[in-house]
Amino acid sequence: MPAQGTWREADPRQTVERHVPDLNDRELDGEAYDAVVVGAGVIGLTCAWHAAAAGHRVCVVERDRVGAGASGVAAGMLAPVGEAVPGEERLLEQNLKAAKAYPEFVARLESAAGMETGYRADGALHVALDRDEAEELRRRHEQHRSLGLASEWLTPSRCRELEPGLSPSCAGGVLAPDEASIDPRRLLAALAVALEKAGVPIHEGAEVTAALPHEGGMGGVRLADGREIHARWTVLAAGAWSAAKWLPDEGRPAVRPVKGQVLRLRGRPGSLPCSRIVASERVYMVPRADGELVVGATVEEQGFDDSVTAGGVLELLREAFRALPDIAELELVEASAGLRPATPDNLPLAGRGSVDGLIVATGHFRNGVLLAPAAAEAVVEAMVPERVTA
Ligand SMILES: Cc1cc2nc3c(=O)[nH]c(=O)nc-3n(C[C@H](O)[C@H](O)[C@H](O)COP(=O)(O)OP(=O)(O)OC[C@H]3O[C@@H](n4cnc5c(N)ncnc54)[C@H](O)[C@@H]3O)c2cc1C
Repeated sequence: MPAQGTWREADPRQTVERHVPDLNDRELDGEAYDAVVVGAGVIGLTCAWHAAAAGHRVCVVERDRVGAGASGVAAGMLAPVGEAVPGEERLLEQNLKAAKAYPEFVARLESAAGMETGYRADGALHVALDRDEAEELRRRHEQHRSLGLASEWLTPSRCRELEPGLSPSCAGGVLAPDEASIDPRRLLAALAVALEKAGVPIHEGAEVTAALPHEGGMGGVRLADGREIHARWTVLAAGAWSAAKWLPDEGRPAVRPVKGQVLRLRGRPGSLPCSRIVASERVYMVPRADGELVVGATVEEQGFDDSVTAGGVLELLREAFRALPDIAELELVEASAGLRPATPDNLPLAGRGSVDGLIVATGHFRNGVLLAPAAAEAVVEAMVPERVTA
């Protein structure tokens, strides 16, 4: 599995790369494109797909493999309500808009790729597991209501009616009926196939090490092996590595890595301990139709360290077990860690950079899977020729 910091290779049936065609033999050196996209995570691939659909000639360069960054480990929640934080109303607005538009994006992509992405709109149940947590959850529920979000308070018995696998200690819950989820690995695979069908090359093992200067701005990138790709636009979709030294100083966005550890468990399809997203104060569980249950996630300021730690795994398992005791019966398939690209105000960056020729699509922090189509729209808008500055 091509993700960061993984202690065990993932089930090969689940990997991204089994779907990704080998495109590395394509001619690249000296090629001229409308846009070169740096990074083959969910943001870069979605931007490339939208740009190609808008008629642009595009290629993607990825130093590792498709999904090697945060996108390959993400849980795939499409959950504006669960992610709502007081003071982040602008982000909430973007997340709500993105969630509303997601089904249409999924339908288009699945039809273009001829593959399913594991999209499910089953809602999310946030649960409190003791009296203190119930008070805190009540406060969050009031906030939801004051923000006009779909959020319903449920008694413990109603919670257990909806999710019989919940611990008897459940002290109440909040149902967010509009939340959804997707399998990010299937999403990445579908994007790679859709790009292949659209004739967009994805070059894996192609690390960008320099910007090509052009008339005071940028005119493409140079790779570690010396090859050059000339492009009117360089789309920076390098995730947590976006504040890279290869960019001109003034073009470097303020993005830092925030580590997240996550577990993948496996049970029989259709008989997992929960049937929708279940979230407690400290963890969330995301069930998939194929029998996978994702348990996430830690939030750690550890720089570029992406190791899986015993403490991280312990915390995730302990808290997941508190909510859904039957997880103890599931197979532990994988523990991995990824680096979320975070900005100082937690808002994503998508649009023209401060250097001519540079477009940024980064900083999507906890919501990159949800916000990828919105980022792609902003990037394509920034590529409109009449808006080009001299
Ligand atoms: C544990 C965890 C759980 C998450 N859960 C969710 C969730 O439920 N819902 C949600 O919406 N979001 C979630 N996120 C956040 C989401 O994963 C990220 O916001 C999103 O994946 C960012 O995508 P990206 O394409 O910007 O970055 P990445 O996926 O990190 O991709 C960046 C790519 O750029 C490449 N790259 C970097 N530098 C270079 C270079 N110089 N040359 C070539 N290539 C380069 C990297 O190798 C990498 O593949 C989660 C994140 C984590 C870590």
